[in-house]
Amino acid sequence: MNKLLIFLLLSTTYIFSNINAVVSIVPEQTFLKAIGGEKVNITLMVQAGDSPHTYEPKPSQMLSVSKADLYLAIDVEFEQVWLPKFENLNSKMVVADVAKGVKKIAMSHENEAHTVHDAHEGQDPHIWTSPANVKTIAQNIYKVLVKVDKDNEDYYHHNLDAFLTQVEDTDIQIKETLSTLKGSRTFMVFHPSWGYFAKAYGLRQIAVEVEGKSPKPRELVQLIKEAKKEKVTAIFTQPEFSDASAKILAKELHIPVIKVSPLAPNWSQNLINIAKAIAGQK
Ligand code: ZN
Repeated sequence: MNKLLIFLLLSTTYIFSNINAVVSIVPEQTFLKAIGGEKVNITLMVQAGDSPHTYEPKPSQMLSVSKADLYLAIDVEFEQVWLPKFENLNSKMVVADVAKGVKKIAMSHENEAHTVHDAHEGQDPHIWTSPANVKTIAQNIYKVLVKVDKDNEDYYHHNLDAFLTQVEDTDIQIKETLSTLKGSRTFMVFHPSWGYFAKAYGLRQIAVEVEGKSPKPRELVQLIKEAKKEKVTAIFTQPEFSDASAKILAKELHIPVIKVSPLAPNWSQNLINIAKAIAGQK
């Protein structure tokens, strides 16, 4: 190879040396894209339709981890087992906890024996369902990007500001939507993913699943009673879990089943949509 060609190859590598980052879940990918923009290549661990509670990485993803500069952890269940393995595999990789500074709430114990998330003593891991938490997550992402790539600090800061404005707009739209709510502020969900959302907007979620499983007939009867008492107007399910028991409940209560995933890529619109569904708007 001649010298000029070597020079060209090296300089291209230099100019286009993006940060190779790995994230656990789709919402992190959305936030990292917004702040890291074109400077970051992202590998996503938990793919659409998979559950972060039970996930196991594929060999191709382990290969990405072995070459990554950065891992953005968000304290979801599979990280407890896998993050130490990732760190062993790639000791040079910077590992950041983007959940840092987020005040965790207790997992919804509407059903007494709900222990699916109890690896963290019953803390709710679905922190990204509240705009206030997402602001903290965004700041954390910004800080670690600057740590890894100081040269592009201004670029990341500009993106951060734009993203924070978007998060605030989302919050305002949700508040406006819910201000029209005249009926019950209680909604049912199969998997209790919306605890932070409920808390932020004075709502209440009742979980259908019990200990991570579909309820038994006796438990279903209890749930129907409670839903009637609370005048629940909709049941939310997510594609990552079976909706068979939610369908039974919905039929019994004459209310719709609405499929909405807290792991959807369009974070902002997704939250606005669930607010609309709770408010009974289309
Ligand atoms: Zn979950």
